[in-house]
Amino acid sequence: MGIATVNPATGETLKTFEALTHEELEAKLALADSAFKQYRQSAIAQRSQMMARVAQILENKQVEFAKVMTLEMGKTIKSAIAEVQKCALVCRYYADNAAQFLADVPGSTDASSSYVRYQPLGIILAVMPWNFPFWQVFRFAAPALMAGNVGILKHASNVPQCALAIEEVFTEAGFPPGVFQTLLVGADRVEAIINDDRVKAATLTGSEPAGMSLAAAAGKQIKKTVLELGGSDPFIVLESADLEAAVTTAVTARMLNNGQSCIAAKRFIVANAIADEFEERLLSKYQALKVGDPMSEDTDIGPLATQRILQDIDRQVKEAIAQGGNVLIGGQPLSERTGNFYPPTIIANLSPDTSMAKEEFFGPVALLFRVANIDEAIAVANNTTFGLGASGWTNDDRERDRLIDELEAGAVFINSMVKSDPRLPFGGIKRSGYGRELGKEGIQEFVNIKTVWIK
Ligand code: NAP
Repeated sequence: MGIATVNPATGETLKTFEALTHEELEAKLALADSAFKQYRQSAIAQRSQMMARVAQILENKQVEFAKVMTLEMGKTIKSAIAEVQKCALVCRYYADNAAQFLADVPGSTDASSSYVRYQPLGIILAVMPWNFPFWQVFRFAAPALMAGNVGILKHASNVPQCALAIEEVFTEAGFPPGVFQTLLVGADRVEAIINDDRVKAATLTGSEPAGMSLAAAAGKQIKKTVLELGGSDPFIVLESADLEAAVTTAVTARMLNNGQSCIAAKRFIVANAIADEFEERLLSKYQALKVGDPMSEDTDIGPLATQRILQDIDRQVKEAIAQGGNVLIGGQPLSERTGNFYPPTIIANLSPDTSMAKEEFFGPVALLFRVANIDEAIAVANNTTFGLGASGWTNDDRERDRLIDELEAGAVFINSMVKSDPRLPFGGIKRSGYGRELGKEGIQEFVNIKTVWIK
């Protein structure tokens, strides 16, 4: 499949795009390179003004942009509008805080003056996924551009109109030509772009194979990378938890983005004493969810983004059933509809060693595990190669402290679902990747941390 808009709700190909020719790509890299030489000299206050304008444009056109996302990858229109609003938030956050994050930091030494200065690196390549087609890009671009870098975006091939719309936002906000550009290219062109001397670093949000391939190419060139990869987040509910709050949040945390989020709760690990009650309440909330047209305001779950994802979740669920899983609801694609629709599904009685429990899966499917105590809960939660987020539900302080301390994840949320917030760093450990986006840590990934010593 080339670069195209295919409506996931109907399967209809709406628009196809030609990939950039070699010459067109070269012209864009040359423009980015010359833009950087000027842009790195700009005052942070001036960058802040432009970034605040980006936020304003996003807010003004939130419905228009949301519709492009929903059309290209099927997220519900209400969640798409919320995504555009969150992008405005991250732009304002860095517009307001970048000067402070990037200010010189004095060091106390025997020099007459010594300090750390943060300087931009140059052209940063961002390889991004389709699942949050605006948010993933803005959470890279806002800090990278505020730090004085220039960005080039290779977006997922199924969201080209989102990619082009984002470039336009930066242009309209007044960023000089070349400071942010979209490159319509396939994944097969990424290595050549990394190999280009003008490109200084890269970030990828996506699957493990894509991350490995990008990091290997960058490694050969000794270029810095940040990887935000997959996840199989646990959602642990212990006996002392507020059960109703936990179940309600469990539904939101699993169904986010039609079940296609790296930090969606995927494995629900529940203490035996409350497991029957949890299961019953979860089932009744699942029964109330409305699957349908993602453009409709009252839809809870739209189609999966591509046919491939539908095929993958269908295969994974069938394997889980064959390995002893008990389907409480759903379990089959909605074949009576065109489009990539899969129903809310719960699979109980699984062994933590089931293949589906170890892999990442995208789609509205919850796996339920029962555990005797917190020791077993933590062991099951950590029984994965991923380490992105984890949510733990308890009202016992000792249990809370153990969850925070012992869960192998880049983030632990207690009595709350895992989410990203511009004010806090976001990223994973283990095979979920390395490096951090957002917060102060995020803006410091793509800078030269220069030591200055004056005698
Ligand atoms: P994907 O297939 O890995 O694609 C992600 C991006 O990488 C796309 O732009 C894709 O381009 C490109 N790509 C694919 N193979 C590549 C290769 N060998 N070399 C260089 N680039 C390559 O992932 P996806 O299906 O779009 O996104 C879902 C994945 O993203 C899930 O694993 C999810 O957990 C992860 N994710 C992680 C986070 C996080 O913050 N940790 C957030 C969101 C999503 P093409 O589209 O042209 O193939």
